[in-house]
Amino acid sequence: MKQIIFNLDVYFKCAGHCAGCFLSQQERNDSQFVPYVFQNDFFTYLSQLIQQKITPETELLIIGFGRGNILSAEEKDIILLAQLIKKLDVAFDVPKKFEISTSLIDKLPSQLQKAEILLKTSPNLYFNVVVNSEILSPSFWKIWRDFYQHNQKYRVQKSIIENGDILVLNINPDNLPDIEDLYQKLKIENKIIQSPINVAFFPYQRHIVEEDLKQLHQWIIYFDQTFKDTDVNYKNFLLQMKNFEIGQDVNTIKNYFQKNQQSYVFIDKYKNIKQGSLSIMGEIDYHRLKDKFDINVSIHEFLKLANRNKVCIECDYQKECLLSGAYLVALQNDKMKRKKYFFANQNMASNITVEHKKEKTAYCLNGYQALFQNYLK
Ligand code: SF4
Repeated sequence: MKQIIFNLDVYFKCAGHCAGCFLSQQERNDSQFVPYVFQNDFFTYLSQLIQQKITPETELLIIGFGRGNILSAEEKDIILLAQLIKKLDVAFDVPKKFEISTSLIDKLPSQLQKAEILLKTSPNLYFNVVVNSEILSPSFWKIWRDFYQHNQKYRVQKSIIENGDILVLNINPDNLPDIEDLYQKLKIENKIIQSPINVAFFPYQRHIVEEDLKQLHQWIIYFDQTFKDTDVNYKNFLLQMKNFEIGQDVNTIKNYFQKNQQSYVFIDKYKNIKQGSLSIMGEIDYHRLKDKFDINVSIHEFLKLANRNKVCIECDYQKECLLSGAYLVALQNDKMKRKKYFFANQNMASNITVEHKKEKTAYCLNGYQALFQNYLK
């Protein structure tokens, strides 16, 4: 495996409200790190797990600390986290990256101070700044630019790197951001940021009609055109997928999944190893996804769907849709399309559901078809 990713669920507090957030409200209120992360034996436990995965083929080891706004943690805990990262940084003789999640929703000066404590630990440390694209407040985007510039200056001073923190943009399809406006927000000193942008299009969480899918499709095409020169996650993902020989038989698909899942280790808040994988939407933790969207993550569900949906039947990218994980969004959107929720009043909410009669769908259910066409043809 060329790339090995360890993703640790160690801290959850976050004052944000992203539409598809995997965390529960209770978790987002929890301001303590999980106890295991600072216990003496954790470094040994994690080091052994990593060592078992490293092979002569390994080109990059990524260790991610998530998933809340880690920069809202107490400074004493940030210092402990920095100590752990320092130990990990010297323990493995392979190229590596440390990724720290933050949503930046807190006071900027204290977040900058904590960011510096972490930046001092390793030249390979980056922040995964998770931003809800629905946030319109100019002051929030100014905080983001100040944070980004501050860390860039620090890295330039230390002659570390050219590119910087990763912007993780969570897109709520129900409230698609204005692309021109978004592009302007991501400019610093009149230049669009060079660092990676990870976009994740979440499924709809309400009844949808054909027009919604059509809008999503057009929005994705325009987004892709506008950000054509930017390092966006789905481009790298599709490029890597293009290099994988996808045969016609089910075994190749299984092999792809196995390979993908083997390179990804997810450690949950109870220190259990959970199944996860990398997808076109970013990292997928099936356990949480299942809780959040109430879907069966089995690929058989998708095959059933693809076989009864006109546009999927005719789609040239069914396999890619499956292998990239995009099918998970399609499944949920299909569910939202077939069921209608009647809101008689706020209190009755979603108690009554009515199955729609079979409808023909003229648009891709996740919007990714346009990207598959652009990058895989
Ligand atoms: S990319 Fe869209 S149209 Fe193609 S199989 Fe997936 S959901 Fe269906």
